[in-house]
Amino acid sequence: MDQTLTLHPVALQSQQLRRVRFAILAGGGAHTLLCWIALQLDFFRGGEFLFYSLFAGIWAGHLLFILFMLMGLNRRLAEPSMIMPLMVWSTTGLLITALFVDQVRLCVMLLFFAIVQLGVFQASLRQFMALASYCVLGYAIVLGVICVYWPEAIDARGEWIQWGLFSVMVVAAMLLASEISTIRFQLGRRNQQLAEIVERIHEMAVKDELTGFYRRRHAMELLNNACGQSARGAYQLAVVYLDLDHFKRTNDQYGHRMGDAVLQRFADVARRHLTKQDLAARLGGEEFMLVLPVTDQEEARNLVEGILMSMRSQRFKDAPGLMVTVSGGLAMRADGETPAQLIKRADLALYRAKETGRDKLIIGETE
Ligand code: GH3
Ligand code: MG
Ligand code: MG
Repeated sequence: MDQTLTLHPVALQSQQLRRVRFAILAGGGAHTLLCWIALQLDFFRGGEFLFYSLFAGIWAGHLLFILFMLMGLNRRLAEPSMIMPLMVWSTTGLLITALFVDQVRLCVMLLFFAIVQLGVFQASLRQFMALASYCVLGYAIVLGVICVYWPEAIDARGEWIQWGLFSVMVVAAMLLASEISTIRFQLGRRNQQLAEIVERIHEMAVKDELTGFYRRRHAMELLNNACGQSARGAYQLAVVYLDLDHFKRTNDQYGHRMGDAVLQRFADVARRHLTKQDLAARLGGEEFMLVLPVTDQEEARNLVEGILMSMRSQRFKDAPGLMVTVSGGLAMRADGETPAQLIKRADLALYRAKETGRDKLIIGETE
């Protein structure tokens, strides 16, 4: 059921890889191009050698991210999308180049909004705040360093005004991010509620409310599957029909509610004898079916006899005189037998158990 709500890990990994590759190529490309134009216009202090060295370093980092993901190493991380480290690395790249680009420094720093957009649906609000603080403070440190080492290269007042403007824009972007984060949180909660409702509806559709056993239709599908597996030699298969004896009398003497309590008690008793591989269904009223993967008929017979014996010894607080017995018919799946034929033999054996005095298990004969 959850396949419809979450992506398969392999699909998720390739989606994340595609997203990161696109972000690096588009964002890193725009950054490189902008700084290269600055270099051509003589706005890049430090010249060509510094430019190429810096971008070789930045791109080496970018490629390392892609390589890391290609090798699948990110899957072991708590956050396999690696969005936060990638955003921190890209922001660091911006800050380093902002140190050497004059005149168009603000343009370079504005690329930060493209970086933020990369994580808008993945990073938490707290992560955004941390990244924004890093960027705004880093930008201030860059300006501070330039003011100390290259004071002649800039118009300090204008640069600090631009920094102020940038900071205001970052705060506005963070407010937007906070809205998106709230919507994301609500959507996540709705999704979870929806998944729970779907699960509950599915449970209600396939399980009987009173006993918690499968309903007839679903049980027949499961029986078909079990017959298929048994035919392929996985195990021997026993089908058991069980019916509470004189249940109408129980209802008449003690009331319908007591009747319901007896049905529930039967289900509890049966459950205690069954293993995880066994299947129990309420076919209707006080009729039940067990499908038991076993090694031989003896194992199945012992299990069912155990249920019959337990039921015999059950006592009911609100009906001290009540004793409940159960009749059963058991059929082992024969080679080439269809589920319908198998059920018919179990039902016939149950009929014989009723006919010959009830409170017993009859083994069905092969045809
Ligand atoms: P036998 O030993 O031959 O099986 O006799 P019986 O009385 O058990 O069988 P019969 O088919 O005559 O009666 C079954 C009764 O089960 C009739 C019906 O009112 C009752 N019943 C069916 N479903 C429920 C239920 O969900 N709750 C209760 N309390 N009674 C139910
Ligand atoms: Mg009955
Ligand atoms: Mg009946």
